[in-house]
Amino acid sequence: MTGAGARGGLGRLFGRHRRPAAGEEAEEAAPSEPVDERDLELARLTLWTDSHCHIQYADDDAEAAAVVDRAVEVGVRRMICIGTDVHSSRRALEIARSRSRAGALRVEIYSTVGLHPHDARHGTEAISALLAELASSGTHLPVVGVGECGLDYHYDHSPRSVQRSAFAAQVALANEHGLTLVIHTREAFDDTLSILASEGTPARTVFHCFTGGPAEAERCLEVGAFLSFSGIVTFNNASEVREAARACPVDRLLVETDSPYLTPVPYRGRTNEPSYVPLVGEAVAREKGLSAKEVATLTSTNAVVAFGLPALPG
Ligand SMILES: [Zn+2]
Repeated sequence: MTGAGARGGLGRLFGRHRRPAAGEEAEEAAPSEPVDERDLELARLTLWTDSHCHIQYADDDAEAAAVVDRAVEVGVRRMICIGTDVHSSRRALEIARSRSRAGALRVEIYSTVGLHPHDARHGTEAISALLAELASSGTHLPVVGVGECGLDYHYDHSPRSVQRSAFAAQVALANEHGLTLVIHTREAFDDTLSILASEGTPARTVFHCFTGGPAEAERCLEVGAFLSFSGIVTFNNASEVREAARACPVDRLLVETDSPYLTPVPYRGRTNEPSYVPLVGEAVAREKGLSAKEVATLTSTNAVVAFGLPALPG
């Protein structure tokens, strides 16, 4: 679905921000590089973390594996695969367990368990049971969060009162299990923040796919949350969101694809995937006056804190 052209484009984008060591460019250009040299080169790429993706929506296992491989090729080494109901949460967990790997082409996939506001009418019992099942095994890992959950008053696929109670229940679950809360909120900042206030904002809270402006950003930052920016920062009509990215302190900033949705410019019309997260990072870098490499490093470091991940490899 994303051809070699797309990957070449990303490679060029990436290369622009990377300062190769002396002599490295000649090595890169060599047509018959031994495989282990190529692996070493890949291992040296800047490390990106896609803080929110849905790899489990791939058509089948082979496509999920290909999505992960393409991400690794451009230096995306950590991905948080986000659940939206009990079935997709179990699939995300399976992918985290089966697709993470060690070595030069190391990739770490983590997952979350949650019920999206669109599906709030199905109730949170199954989510609660899955979290309890994980807790009884001694560790939630690779599950690191509860969500995505929250309020979506734009689509109103579930009645608002039902959305509010499902969200409150999942805030309580994040607190109970000591997991990160991943929030989806659309046209509902007031109610989202008031539920956080009444349930207690979890120590680690992320507003995913941040779509507000600087005023909303400030309110979310005030409660100690991280703001995760998506491909929306590359959209022409998203100047408010870019303003929020400029206002967000560098230690509260995350980047995500929300793939398969919200494909960043210039690949609009294609299916989004984690290998495009450097495009989001580059757009954020432009707003912050930083290099893409700096944004990769700081957002990966922030993801360690935001999701309680193991320290980044040295
Ligand atoms: Zn999502």
